[in-house]
This record gives sequence, C-alpha cells and structure tokens, in this order.
Amino acid sequence: MRRHNLSVLLRHLHAAGPTTRSDLTARTGLNRSTIGVLVGDLAARGFVVEGKATATGGPGRPSPPVHPRPEGAVALALEVDVDSLAAATVGLGGHVLGRRRVDRPGGRFSPEDTVDELARLARPLLRRLPAGAPVVAAGVAVVGLVRVGDGCVRVAPNLGWVDVPLAALVRRRLRLRVPVAVGNEADLGARSEHVRGAGVGIDDLVYLSGEVGVGAGIIVGGRHLGGAEGYGGEVGHLPVNPTGQACGCGSVGCWETEVGEGALLRRAGRSAEPGDRTAVRTLLDDARAGDDAARAAVEAVGRWLGVGLAGVVNVFNPRRVVLGGLFAELHPLVARTVDAELDGRALDASRAVVDVVVSALGVDAPLLGAAELALDELLGDPTRMPPLAEQNKDAARE
Ligand SMILES: [Zn+2]
Repeated sequence: MRRHNLSVLLRHLHAAGPTTRSDLTARTGLNRSTIGVLVGDLAARGFVVEGKATATGGPGRPSPPVHPRPEGAVALALEVDVDSLAAATVGLGGHVLGRRRVDRPGGRFSPEDTVDELARLARPLLRRLPAGAPVVAAGVAVVGLVRVGDGCVRVAPNLGWVDVPLAALVRRRLRLRVPVAVGNEADLGARSEHVRGAGVGIDDLVYLSGEVGVGAGIIVGGRHLGGAEGYGGEVGHLPVNPTGQACGCGSVGCWETEVGEGALLRRAGRSAEPGDRTAVRTLLDDARAGDDAARAAVEAVGRWLGVGLAGVVNVFNPRRVVLGGLFAELHPLVARTVDAELDGRALDASRAVVDVVVSALGVDAPLLGAAELALDELLGDPTRMPPLAEQNKDAARE
C-alpha cells in the first residue's frame, strides 16, 4: 500500500512538477498526515525537496511546495534515428541535465559502429553529472520493431538491421550496471508527449512521426498499445496503394511510400540519400517560397497524409493526433488539405472529437520518451532506491 502511494505521489511530481502538500492531498484523496509521511519518505530517498511555504491568502496553514529533485534519479536516454544519433541525461521531473545530437546522414551503419558512437556521445554527459546523482537505468529509442521482452531490434528496415540485441550491446559497450530498456521511437514519442508534451491529460492519443519511415505510438485508455510482442502501431506499413512503390519492409504501396521523406522528394523530382534532412528542408523552403513542383509534392503528401489519418482515426477513435518529425514541419503547409481528407473520409462521429496538432517536444520527443521508459521501473516502486543515509553508509564502506 505504502509502495503504491509512494509511486502515485512520485509519478505525479515527476510529470506535473512542484506541487503543494495540500494539492497532493486533494489529488490523491489521502489525508494530510499520510501525505506528510510519504513526502518525508521520498525526501529521505533523495527524490524530492520541500520549498518554503508561502501564504496563499486562503484559509488554513500555508502549504509548502514539494519539488522533484532532478539529481535524485537520472536516466541515460539514447536515440538511434535514420539520420541522427542522440544522448541525454534526464533527471526526475523530466529535467534535461545534458544533451547531444549528431547528424549521421545515409542511414546504414552497423549496430557496433552505432553503439560506439552512442558511447562517445554519452560519456561526457555521464562525467558531467552532479556528484552523487545516481544513473538508475538507460532507455534507447530506435526506428525499428523492438521485442519488449529483451530489447532486441527484430527488424529496422531503414537501418538495414535484423535481430540486433541492442539492449545487450549498449549495456556492454557503455559498461552500464543498470537495466537498459529499448523501445520503438514513435512509441516513445507518444509516451513523452503524453507525460509532458502536446498530449498531457489526453488518454486516447495517436502520435504519428514521419521521417524516412512513418510510425505511430498509440495510447488507448491511457495505456500504450503494443500488441503481443510490442510490434504494434506500425501504421507506416498499412497497405494503402496496391500499385504503389516498393517499401523497405519488402511490401508494396505501404503508407510510408506515399508520405515519408522519400515520397516527398520523389514527387518533386529530386533525388537524395535516405535521411538527407538538408534536401527535405530545402524542398519545404521552396514550397513556402512558391516553387510549383515543391508545392505540388507537398500537397500530394498532405492528401495521402489525410487519407491514412482517416483510417487511423476510424480504427482508434483518438481524441488527439500529435504530428512529429517531418509531419510537424509539413503540417502548417497542408493543414487544410489534411482536414478536408479527414472530413471526407473519417466517420463523422470519430472525426468530430479529434484534433490534429504538432508535437510540443519536437525532435527530442522520442529521446525524452526513452528517459521516461528508463525511469518507469523506479517510478513504479520508489523503494527500489534506499534512503540517502543508507546509500552514504554503503559508499563509505566501498
Ligand atoms: Zn512497408
């Protein structure tokens, strides 16, 4: 019971930030003295600090705010994208302590080279952590299908990876003594947008991310929809055009062959390496400047985006669709087209309750989601971390 209440409290503080004791009491339905004991326990473990009480002007004693302590528990977050790699150290409360991203155009790198590069990115961030800030776990976001049980990337068509034991590789190469969890990039984007982005408080949510590939993280009734092994949400491979282009997955006419970066460039008659972000940016700039071929390409992708979204809306009845990656940049140019396709194709009842917005966390949404994934076990059971007094005793003994 106590473990459960500690978890509820810490999850709230982690997601919502500083909260007064009286708000915690109101929010949890626990009484004041219980909240006092629980906050004391969380403070003893280094997770929170209490601020000074300020008079609110209302009746009763002033209530001190409880702050999550970023250096109380730190996640190492890593991301493997087709065109970039990133690392971050993220403390409780979602506070980013350090972050680095490097572009890596071209897409195809071996898992070993990729993990070496991740280690080069992560090491300085870990060295720069405040003294005594414990790294409790690592999370990795990757553009591929991930078996949740063991963090194995079953297949990542746009990286050319098959059956890569990514969790084990990262743990070994970075010499980590903490658990390493791996998740699909769009799933983790959905997670961070839900906790602290454009989807806060919205429990039926689709996060749709477009780059070279297209993926979705789907949250239904507040729970992530993963499927039997965690491979669900691959809406980029919805077959939408039987006479369309060959897809990286081996099929033909998948949705991502009509709306991914490759489709955008192809429609404008431009060629570029997969994951060439500069070529995509130039094309979008040209479309904004009124270039006819660029505008036509953008418009066609907008139409296909709306066509596929209508299907997604009909299947999942989300309250909100959050667009990330390429789609976040594309949306302002094609919002009317997307809306028109949704109006014409989605079921009226589902269409009426959904809005389409762009990501609040931008390019870092999956990286921040990897941090959420890493912290999840501790947030579920804060007693995993001993009180600071015992930690110091252990440290003195070592
Ligand atoms: Zn496909």
